[in-house]
Amino acid sequence: MSIKTIDLHIHSNASDGTFTPAEIVRHAVSINLEAIALTDHDTISGLDEFLQTAATENITAIPGVEISSLFSGREIHILGYFIDYHNPALLAFLDHIRAGRNSRNEDIIRRLQSLGYEITLEEVTARAGGESIGRPHVASLLIEKGYFKDSQQAFERCLKRGAPAFCPRKLPHPEEAIRIIHQAGGIAVWAHPVYRNKFARSHVRGMLRKMKPLGLDGVEGFYPGYTPVQHQMLLELAAISDLVVSGGTDFHGGNIPSIAMGSGDGNFSVPAECLAAMREYHHNIKHEIDNITVTGE
Ligand code: AMP
Ligand code: MN
Ligand code: MN
Ligand code: MN
Repeated sequence: MSIKTIDLHIHSNASDGTFTPAEIVRHAVSINLEAIALTDHDTISGLDEFLQTAATENITAIPGVEISSLFSGREIHILGYFIDYHNPALLAFLDHIRAGRNSRNEDIIRRLQSLGYEITLEEVTARAGGESIGRPHVASLLIEKGYFKDSQQAFERCLKRGAPAFCPRKLPHPEEAIRIIHQAGGIAVWAHPVYRNKFARSHVRGMLRKMKPLGLDGVEGFYPGYTPVQHQMLLELAAISDLVVSGGTDFHGGNIPSIAMGSGDGNFSVPAECLAAMREYHHNIKHEIDNITVTGE
């Protein structure tokens, strides 16, 4: 019998993935994953379909979300797991963040038009389909129109921070993202602390020292982009800092075709024990969170 594995970082077409939530579940079942989490950017709108589909299949499904935040001028993504996605504070917070996305998208389109690209906001919105719209949707439209060969090129030449069509949006501090996730009964995990090879050990260590007191519960220790050294470093730092370890592929379907669900670039997998440890941790801290929420009111 093959060893069961999991994937706790997946995007649907509610944000910048291309699979519907139901398609994600069916695909995960077909490749024999034991558990999956849907973690769309700044939206929970895919979670009903995701959980309802999973309930009819032999697979464990965890409700999640990925919230972008800004800390010392750097974007930090915080994953929330086991969230009550009907929590009013969480919903209001995500609404506010998506409003910031929408006004930033208008800025990006205006900037692109002034640079000579023929593109409209209506086209981007129609293409995205879901409620959390971002730069990957702009990138895929620019590719379809023949301006770029792939999203990497669209980001490099146009959309990444510092590129000509980049426009900032107002991002919350990670402390706020962590607090809201806790209020919704979830645990907060720092997504891909090493992203596109940008972070050194001293940096990750320093950040963990600052984020742990903010309530951070875990780090994403398994991620396809890590080198073996980076992966080991994150497991070590998680152990030193008393943080749980999660893992996933950051699957985006056709928007990032090089990354497959469950297996990333092919040589990747997340052991099911990760989820067991996260569950145990969640169970243990839930009482603490409940107490904080009650006394804080
Ligand atoms: P946004 O949420 O609109 O700020 O866009 C960020 C998303 O774009 C990330 O979640 C990735 O999916 C994608 N992304 C970020 N940087 C790059 C890049 N250099 N190349 C391709 N996709 C990227
Ligand atoms: Mn994305
Ligand atoms: Mn991310
Ligand atoms: Mn992601």
